[in-house]
Amino acid sequence: MNAQTISQAEPLVKARNVHKSFGDNEVLKGIDLDVMPGETVVILGPSGSGKSTFLRCINHLEAMNRGSIQVGNEQIGYELRGKHLRKLSARAIARQRRQIGMVFQQFNLYPHLTVLQNIIEAPVGIHGESRQAAEAYAMTLLQRVGLKEKADAYPRQLSGGQQQRVAIARALAIKPKLILFDEPTSALDPELVGEVLATMKDLAEQGLTMVVVTHEIGFAKEAADRVVFMDGGYIVEQGPPDEILVNPQHPRTRAFLSRVI
Ligand code: ADP
Ligand code: MG
Repeated sequence: MNAQTISQAEPLVKARNVHKSFGDNEVLKGIDLDVMPGETVVILGPSGSGKSTFLRCINHLEAMNRGSIQVGNEQIGYELRGKHLRKLSARAIARQRRQIGMVFQQFNLYPHLTVLQNIIEAPVGIHGESRQAAEAYAMTLLQRVGLKEKADAYPRQLSGGQQQRVAIARALAIKPKLILFDEPTSALDPELVGEVLATMKDLAEQGLTMVVVTHEIGFAKEAADRVVFMDGGYIVEQGPPDEILVNPQHPRTRAFLSRVI
């Protein structure tokens, strides 16, 4: 993605002062983050720092307590009625979530459905697309993740890496504006991590807007436009990978990187 295009566009994601607590435990303490269209942002940080919770707030899998997140023209969890922001119904939240794809550590494909059936399940079953159109698009996606020949296989016949690539195709099947990855390679055997990261890197190069939580520093170096380091519910520092990974300014970032690299 070319820097000039990024600077001229409006952010696709605007998170402002996002707070989230579970009981007395304040997990997000005021997160501000913009993600530009076409940008790949990698979020790094120690376990428990609030990375998953932040992704889940973007996708409204968790409701934030304070602050706001805008994705495209939508205010997550709210809508403008006249001059007032109103809380959305569960149904309307589902509509908002349609523009956001998510890939989890556990890929959770439906075991009784083929690869193709897994991919068209949401577009056909939930969003009412025609089966024919959804299947044609699913085949395009399978080509993109390098698994066209596995369309009729069942998940159990695939390796973990292949299953995660199917899960990525499934997340793309609803044509999201934004795709969130939460440690997509953490559950994989080490020898299967590379193929999933390569698929994600291709998607990043094709201009998808991605927010990726991962401990894979190599991926951050090669594929991220920006690296964000989170600790203790805050963004501690952020910047281009060559700055944050090579010459971090904050002692907490340095300590973290010296542990994971
Ligand atoms: P990370 O992804 O950076 O490891 P998380 O966002 O998963 O961090 O978790 C941050 C903190 O929030 C942890 O202390 C975790 O125990 C707590 N937490 C996360 N989800 C819940 C939940 N559903 N209920 C209670 N506490 C939670
Ligand atoms: Mg997590």
